[in-house]
Amino acid sequence: MSKPDKATTERNSKILRELVRQPDNKVCADCKRNDPRWASWNLGVFLCIRCSGIHRGMGTHISRVKSIDLDMWTPEQMESIQQWGNRRANLYWEAHLKVGHVPAITKWNHSSAPNTNHEDGR
Ligand SMILES: [Zn+2]
Repeated sequence: MSKPDKATTERNSKILRELVRQPDNKVCADCKRNDPRWASWNLGVFLCIRCSGIHRGMGTHISRVKSIDLDMWTPEQMESIQQWGNRRANLYWEAHLKVGHVPAITKWNHSSAPNTNHEDGR
C-alpha cells in the first residue's frame, strides 16, 4: 500500500479543515455537537469524538472513521467525503426514514455492507 506523499497529505488536510468550517459540517452529523474532528468517509459525515466511537463500534463494514487532524486520507476517501458531507448525507437518511427504512446502509452498497442492524447509540 503506497502512502500519499506529503504535499497530497497537506492538501487533503487543508480541504478537510475547510469542509468542517462549512455551516453544514460544523456540527456533528449525529448529535449536533460543535466542532467535529472526525469523519466517516464511507458514510460521508462529520462526527464528534463521541459519535466517532459509536461509529467505530459498528464495524468497518458499516462506517469507516478517520480523524480529520491525525489520519492520512486516500484520494478515494477524499472523494467520498467531499461528495457527501453532513447535509447531503442527512437528507439522504431522512428520505429513507420517511419510506420506513432504518437509516442503515442502503446507500453504501459500494462498500458491500449486507448488515442492516441499526445501532446509532441513541
Ligand atoms: Zn456527535
